[in-house]
Amino acid sequence: MSIKHHISDDFLIDYASGSLAEGWSLAVASHLALCPECRRRLAIMEGAAGALLDKAEQNGSEDQAWSRFKARTADIRVEEVKPGQAASRPATAVLPEPLRSYVGGDLADLKWRALGRGAYQILIDTKDKETQVRLLRIPAGKPVPEHTHEGRELTLVLAGSFRDGDDLFARGDLEEADGDLLHTPTATEGEDCICLAVTEAPLKFSSWIVRLVQPILKI
Ligand SMILES: [Zn+2]
Repeated sequence: MSIKHHISDDFLIDYASGSLAEGWSLAVASHLALCPECRRRLAIMEGAAGALLDKAEQNGSEDQAWSRFKARTADIRVEEVKPGQAASRPATAVLPEPLRSYVGGDLADLKWRALGRGAYQILIDTKDKETQVRLLRIPAGKPVPEHTHEGRELTLVLAGSFRDGDDLFARGDLEEADGDLLHTPTATEGEDCICLAVTEAPLKFSSWIVRLVQPILKI
């Protein structure tokens, strides 16, 4: 089954120029590892940016964004399986790089923590304070729990699938949502859904009273 939901131009351009926070970059890079189409789009952007830079250099101006861009695109590890190589790849390799390195292994190595109502999560540490990154395991047929947040959200499906409205998201599909959109992703029947979810980090309030009630109000 081919991937139907891809990285938006905004995210891809920010990723290429190195201006995305680490959490968002992890979701984008993991999608790229699974999606030849978006790797092609990135290559086209790279070509266009190179042509623009050549023009800029002729005009005597320099742009550091280009070197960041090159460094970023060189990082992408391509995991396309060529027909002859399929047998040598472990059948259990569900997590693409760079995600697999972040969590220190593949699905079998993960230490899930119960979220309640049959769902599990693993929080993933990054150095950026802007995002919250987690793996979620949603039981078949159940909605994604605790789904109240503000700001942008990227969800990459790694196993199983979920429905959101009329859209079906399966392995490799990336859903981009923002806080204005009221949505209830629900795992499809028959198989648990495992996905990488990146959201904007919860607001940090300075008042200790607000900090105290924050987990209760889930704001
Ligand atoms: Zn794609």
